[in-house]
Formats: sequence, C-alpha cells, structure tokens
Amino acid sequence: MINFNHINAESLGEAAGLLQSSKGKAKVMAGGTDLLGVLKDRILPEYPETIINLKTIPGLKNIEEAGGRLKIGALTTLEAIVQSPLIQERCRILVDAAKSVASLQIRNLGTLGGNLCQDLRCMYYRYPYQIGGRLMCKRKGEGACLAVKGDNRYHAIMGAKGCFAVCPSDMAVALSALDATITLGGSGGSRTLPVASFYTPAGMVLEPGEILTTVSVPLPSRAVKTAFSKFRLRDAIDFAIVSVASALTVSHGTCEDARIILGAVAPFPFRAEKAESYIKGKPLTEKTAAQAALLALEKAKPLSMNAYKIQIAKTLIVKSILGRADR
Ligand SMILES: Cc1cc2nc3c(=O)[nH]c(=O)nc-3n(C[C@H](O)[C@H](O)[C@H](O)COP(=O)(O)OP(=O)(O)OC[C@H]3O[C@@H](n4cnc5c(N)ncnc54)[C@H](O)[C@@H]3O)c2cc1C
Ligand code: SF4
Repeated sequence: MINFNHINAESLGEAAGLLQSSKGKAKVMAGGTDLLGVLKDRILPEYPETIINLKTIPGLKNIEEAGGRLKIGALTTLEAIVQSPLIQERCRILVDAAKSVASLQIRNLGTLGGNLCQDLRCMYYRYPYQIGGRLMCKRKGEGACLAVKGDNRYHAIMGAKGCFAVCPSDMAVALSALDATITLGGSGGSRTLPVASFYTPAGMVLEPGEILTTVSVPLPSRAVKTAFSKFRLRDAIDFAIVSVASALTVSHGTCEDARIILGAVAPFPFRAEKAESYIKGKPLTEKTAAQAALLALEKAKPLSMNAYKIQIAKTLIVKSILGRADR
C-alpha cells in the first residue's frame, strides 16, 4: 500500500465537497472490501491521495418502507439486507441476490452502495502491480482491450463497446428486475435514475463529487413472482458467470407483465426486452419459456471463448419463467 490521508466524513455535504475539490485525487470508501484490494494491488494508474470514509456519515444505513417503496441507505451492509424481515417478506429477490454475494465476512462489511459501485473484475484490469507490473488496456486509457485476443471466458457476449468487462454486481441485476432507482447526491444537489441506467458500456455515470446515497424499490404486489438465479463456478464464493433476475406478473398461469434482466453477460444489467414482450399475454409453459430464452439471446455476439454463456443464460431464463429458479 502507498500512504494516503484518511478522513472520516461527518456529513454527505462534507464528503461530496472533499471529493469535488480533490479533482480526482480522492476516493470514497464504504466497507473497503473492494477498494482496499484495488489499492493494495495498485491496479489503477492513479493512486488516491485521500480516502474519505463514508461509514461515519449518519443516516445512510436505514431500511424502511415509505409510500409503497422500500428505501435502502447506500451504507446498508449486504448482510443487513439478508437479515431484514421487511426485505425477506416483501422483496425476497433482494435477499437471494445479496446472499449469493461473496462470503458472510464480506457481506458483513460490504455495503449496497459499494456493491453497485464496485470496480471491474476483468483479470487483465485487476492484474496486480506487484506481480509483473500493471497492465494497461482500453478501459485504463492506453492500448487495446486485452481480452479480445486473450482469455475472454468471463467477458461480455452483448452490449460491449471496446471494453468487454461485465458489470460484476449481483445486486444491480436484482434491483433492475424490480425497476429500482438510485439517488446520487453531490455538492450541487441530487438526481435519481433507474439502476439500469447507472451503467453504460464505458462505465458508471457517477459525476465527480457524486455519492450514491439511497436505493428506492417499488414494492412488488403479491401477483408479481420474482426470481434470482446465478450460475457460478464455485458455490462457496464466486462472481456470476451468468445470472438472471425476473419479475413476472402472473394471473391464472398467464404472464401479464414481465421484466427479465441478465447479469454478467454485458457491461450493464441487460434487459431482455424481446423476451419480455414475447412472454406477455402467453401461458407460462416449457415452450413459451424456451422461445423467450431464444429471443433474449438472439443478439448475442460471443468472443472466442465465451459462447458457452449463451446456453447457460437460456437455461436460467427458462427456470426463472417456470418458477424453478434456485434460491
Ligand atoms: C472475494 C470477493 C468475492 C465477491 N463476490 C461477489 C459476488 O459474487 N457478487 C457481487 O455482486 N459482488 C461480489 N463481490 C464484491 C463485493 O460485493 C463488494 O466488494 C462490496 O459489495 C463492496 O462494498 P464496500 O462497501 O466494501 O465497497 P468499497 O470497497 O468501500 O467501495 C467499492 C467502490 O465503490 C465506491 N463506493 C463505495 N460506496 C460508494 C457510494 N455510496 N457512492 C459512490 N461510490 C461508492 C468506492 O469508491 C470504490 O470505488 C466480491 C468481493 C470479494 C472481495
Ligand atoms: S475487458 Fe478489455 S478493456 Fe475492459 S478492462 Fe478488460 S482488458 Fe481492459
């Protein structure tokens, strides 16, 4: 590690002001489970001079219901989400997604905001400085994407533009299925946007000085069946190879409305809109589920080593639609 200043922020305004005035030389830290690894391995060309601790800001770890929505503070830990009776009862999909993240130790420290803002997991991007020197690539602003001609087993099969790293956040996938929004606060005010629009092929849309403060989820009605499934190589701790989160409004076996989101296949939670439109108004059968899965992956353009993700994604979609998703 290289030495850095550490400031315990006492308010959101203070943290945002410090971040803004640092001109890119400061980083905010929540649980530190991702950031400290990034710093230790010196994977990024710039090393921050100052770390602003967000955990000392009061009022950012609450879970509450208001006006038909669930409001979750950005500093809420993933384990607090797993353990929340309110979320267990009204938004089980968030419990399932949070439970699938990492290990209990990491969930005890890692926050929802940190999960949504975590850095990429591409192995070239994360190559540790201490092993053979930092690797530069398109995403780091120098050279080409190393995954295109290299090991791209875990990279995007859709929606990438130049950088093929996938969005690593499981929570972003489940939240997108619920059409959740996030609020970003800064010294100049705040703005709210859908979780799915927070991610683009070029990265997150966090402006300098902005901090994620709250996640707001419309509470699904009892008619909405939600499901989160995740395929990973190791069940103990692992990022998704592919995940699927769905929210289907079902009446007498017929789908009235659908949101189907794929994770780890694109740089953002990928909304399978064609599959959604197809399944609406149809009975939920093996045949219609398989056709929806086919349409969802229609535009996939795998790299040399990751075409296997297509079949996994299709299988998870079918399981989700038929209510057979794993917990
Ligand atoms: C071994 C391991 C396995 C993992 N497996 C999974 C997995 O299966 N699925 C998955 O989804 N994730 C996984 N993760 C990622 C994990 O969920 C994140 O490390 C954790 O959620 C980050 O939260 P944090 O509070 O520790 O964030 P930090 O490490 O403190 O911050 C992470 C990043 O987000 C920024 N940040 C933090 N909070 C905010 C905020 N409120 N506003 C703006 N920026 C902010 C920081 O500046 C930093 O860049 C894994 C991590 C590890 C180490
Ligand atoms: S996918 Fe390519 S451009 Fe993106 S982080 Fe990895 S090596 Fe860099």
